[in-house]
Amino acid sequence: MGQDKIMEVRMIENGTVIDHIPPAALFKIISIMGLDRDTEHRMTIGTNLESKRLGTKAIIKINDRHPSPWEIDRIALFAPEARVNTIRNFEVVEKRTVEVPRSIEGFVKCANPQCVTNHETVETAFDVVAENDGNIALKCRYCEKLTKNFGTKFNPY
Ligand SMILES: [Zn+2]
Repeated sequence: MGQDKIMEVRMIENGTVIDHIPPAALFKIISIMGLDRDTEHRMTIGTNLESKRLGTKAIIKINDRHPSPWEIDRIALFAPEARVNTIRNFEVVEKRTVEVPRSIEGFVKCANPQCVTNHETVETAFDVVAENDGNIALKCRYCEKLTKNFGTKFNPY
């Protein structure tokens, strides 16, 4: 114990610690939250850290910044095991798990090149479905095709 805890608590006075992020999802979450363009908030990002549950994990600690519900929904798509901890006065005052949303609008492109959303200015809309292998896929409401591995195609802006 110790080390991780000490760092977590010492670095953040008020803010958020997002823990249990799969390392492969780290940069997506950075992008979702716009942290790559954030010149205001002090933050610490660690990756490929040891995790009993995930093998390896990444962690994001940000001062004076709390993810919005919109951001949490999208974080959950890429890191369904993530924990979002709220820190006040160096104390964890709230620990919560994220919940994978049931649907998602915009944000991800439909994998079907024929889909109307890829030809007209129609915002994409998907139902989130669980595959047999436990992975998440997105079912398009327009063409019903499944978009898988959407993490590689996502377009957050
Ligand atoms: Zn579609």
